[in-house]
Amino acid sequence: MKEGIQLPTIVVVGDQSSGKSSVLESLAGISLPRGQGICTRVPLIMRLQDHHSDKVELQLEYESKTIQTSEARVSDAINVATEEIAGTGKGISHTPLTLVVRKKGVPDLTMIDLPGITRVPVHGQPEDIYEQISNIIKDYISPKESIILNVLSATVDFPTCESIRMSQLVDKTGERTLAVVTKSDRAPEGLLEKVTTDAINIGLGYVCVRNRIGDESYEEARTKEAELFESHPLLSKIDKSIVGIPVLAQKLVEIQAASIARCLPEIVKKINDKLNQNVDELSQMPQNLASAGDAMKALFHITGAAKDSLKKILLQGEFEEYPEDKKMHCTARMADMLHDFSNQLYSKSAEDTLSGNFLIDEIKLLEESEGIGLPNFIPRTVFLVLLQRKVDQIAVLPLVFMTKMWSYIEDVVGDVLTRHLAAYPQLKSATIRATQNLLAQSKKQSENHVRELVQMEMIADYTSNPEYMKNWASLMAQRDRLMEVIRNASQPSLFNLNGFGQVQVGHLRQKSSMVEQAFDIKMRVTVYWKIVVMRLVDSLAMHLLFSLQKLVNHDMLHGIVDELMGPQRGGIERMLEESPSLAGKRERMNRSIKLLKQSKDVVANIMDRISADGQFDNILFQDQSEA
Ligand code: GDP
Ligand code: MG
Repeated sequence: MKEGIQLPTIVVVGDQSSGKSSVLESLAGISLPRGQGICTRVPLIMRLQDHHSDKVELQLEYESKTIQTSEARVSDAINVATEEIAGTGKGISHTPLTLVVRKKGVPDLTMIDLPGITRVPVHGQPEDIYEQISNIIKDYISPKESIILNVLSATVDFPTCESIRMSQLVDKTGERTLAVVTKSDRAPEGLLEKVTTDAINIGLGYVCVRNRIGDESYEEARTKEAELFESHPLLSKIDKSIVGIPVLAQKLVEIQAASIARCLPEIVKKINDKLNQNVDELSQMPQNLASAGDAMKALFHITGAAKDSLKKILLQGEFEEYPEDKKMHCTARMADMLHDFSNQLYSKSAEDTLSGNFLIDEIKLLEESEGIGLPNFIPRTVFLVLLQRKVDQIAVLPLVFMTKMWSYIEDVVGDVLTRHLAAYPQLKSATIRATQNLLAQSKKQSENHVRELVQMEMIADYTSNPEYMKNWASLMAQRDRLMEVIRNASQPSLFNLNGFGQVQVGHLRQKSSMVEQAFDIKMRVTVYWKIVVMRLVDSLAMHLLFSLQKLVNHDMLHGIVDELMGPQRGGIERMLEESPSLAGKRERMNRSIKLLKQSKDVVANIMDRISADGQFDNILFQDQSEA
């Protein structure tokens, strides 16, 4: 039952004060809390075990506590335990309380006493008491394995009982319902008719009883009961096979035995299923690192495997480990990002040639830098200022690109490590921390590098690329034609300039003195800018490839080992520690497996004896108590 396997149980249900606790008391031969209103507020599992000694042993078990008690104190002990579980008020709880009664001569029975049902909450009871109680009752009587012991007071009309209504909901034909009629002494009239006509579908039959009244001892109560059914003018007419506590005990024992025999094959199967499931689960639990050697092996294994994976996906473009996961096809994704970056650079520096601004900036700058000197020297500052403006425009893009790239790499590395660390959670946090530190360092280096690259373009201008002179010369070849159009006002004001497309030139007609120089400068900047952009993209790509190689092939392994094994880190010992929750789970699994194995043996034993003996009733419940 601890492992959630339903065993055949006898569940006692009945309306409030119908006499449930009294019936249990009579069966167990001990006193239980009795009274008006609700006094059973939690499920009470009562396990009766016949034993040889004359000494009565009583033991209360709840919430993993075991309390030895005595006949005199058991009532109080139950009340204290109930208050501990369900509070001091009138509230109720699902958490059961187990009372083990070892007493000479008691029937070997396990029964569950439940809170009685009431439609109307009495003073101090929660409003939804009916729902609460009927939920508990339903939980216990729904399983097909449960035998329902329906306690009915002789003083009431049976069909009006709530407990009858409830048990009929789960057991229509009544095949697993037995009725006990209490208080026969108080309402003898018509009792014979009530139990013989069976208006309420009780499949397992009725037993009429008279429980202990007031301060009677158990023995007195049995004598009085026997006398009552022997000599009472009406009650004596009821067949002796359906009256008295001893008859009830005998019936219950038989029913329980038959029910156990019927359920055994299913129980065996459930034990096996549960056992297999737990063994599987245990074998899939994270590895426990028992020695320094184990820990070293694990560390080598993880770092080696993670490095291989990262090498494949980040450097070599082999993604067979992640065939479906597009994110992990890293070389392709990084190429995408680089491509986007270069597109952004180009589009950010593209200009509008039809707005009437063509050459205006250049002319303004030339005017401002005019000095006393010959007019056909192009001032170098003008070129540099124009270049700086262009660099300024795109300066953030390389940084944004690098930040995005590193957060992607961090993501990928995190995924890979998490995958390889799944079996070693005790190494996880330190490993992840080490790589995060490393990645943060690499990112910082990249940022510095990128800033330097941008700075360089800002203050220096050089290329050894022969394309520069070639392209400049080919753009300049258009100058004379352009000047002709500008000087001749009758020409159209749109000019088709190779490398720019349609250019608006009308506004340049008044400024013709500066146009030639301005055009020259613009062509130099334009040609040079293409080289700058290409150089930026190339350098960033080279830097990235270099950083990744360094990280994967060298830094990562060192960083992780330093983080895990460094002297101030607790070294290898810490790797041996398992998290308490994991250790707890492992222990629970082991305990549960042990218990299930034992249960399996016990049940197998019973099954053997059944098949050997043929007649199993008596053997069965003896074995059950041993079990
Ligand atoms: P529960 O609420 O169903 O557990 O009912 P209890 O066992 O606490 O009984 C309620 C009351 O009915 C108590 O005062 C008992 O003494 C009384 N009672 C139970 N059975 C009998 C019986 O057979 N005869 C008489 N006269 N009273 C009984
Ligand atoms: Mg009770």
